[in-house]
Amino acid sequence: MVTRGILIGRFQPPHKGHIEVSKQILREVDELIVGVGSAQESHTLENPFTAGERILMISKGLAEAGIDLSRVHIIPIPDVKNHAIWVSHVVSLSPPFSAVYSGNPLVKRLFKEAGFKVKAPPMFKRKEYWGAEIRDRMIKGKNWEQLVPKTVLEVMKEIKAAERLKDLSKTDYLLS
Ligand code: ATP
Ligand code: MG
Repeated sequence: MVTRGILIGRFQPPHKGHIEVSKQILREVDELIVGVGSAQESHTLENPFTAGERILMISKGLAEAGIDLSRVHIIPIPDVKNHAIWVSHVVSLSPPFSAVYSGNPLVKRLFKEAGFKVKAPPMFKRKEYWGAEIRDRMIKGKNWEQLVPKTVLEVMKEIKAAERLKDLSKTDYLLS
């Protein structure tokens, strides 16, 4: 029987920590499902990139790391704003899975309560390989390029990611 594990995150943007943890998970299960959370969001400081952009970056980053993409399924997961039904929402959108990998306490709790096997994968260089840190550095014009895989950086250049973040940092108040 094929075993599948799911890793859920917002991937704003995908970074080298996500790639390391994906490799780790693929040592334990046959196939990895990457759930792209808050999929309906884009163009905000917390969620600058669209689900499509994130999916593109994740698949390129995983392929660059030598991961066979036939073992990977990347799915968008929009928010439901109701924690009690969130797990069934994820299950309704995802290929079947038996293991859940997350460092997020709420995600862990919700899946455990629903009877899933939940594992907390190790964190890699968390002070640097951290979405919020990367977004902050992009806004401030500090070095961030080395924190994402080369192919992810190429997509980010293509979509003018740093320019978008800087503009959002000036104009986000219009939306809040
Ligand atoms: P943000 O600051 O935007 O929340 P993040 O770096 O925490 O970004 P997420 O998209 O929230 O990224 O990450 C989803 C999952 O990826 C986390 O629950 C965690 O399991 C894993 N992850 C994130 N960063 C790392 C890392 N440096 N090493 C290993 N796993 C990581
Ligand atoms: Mg996070």
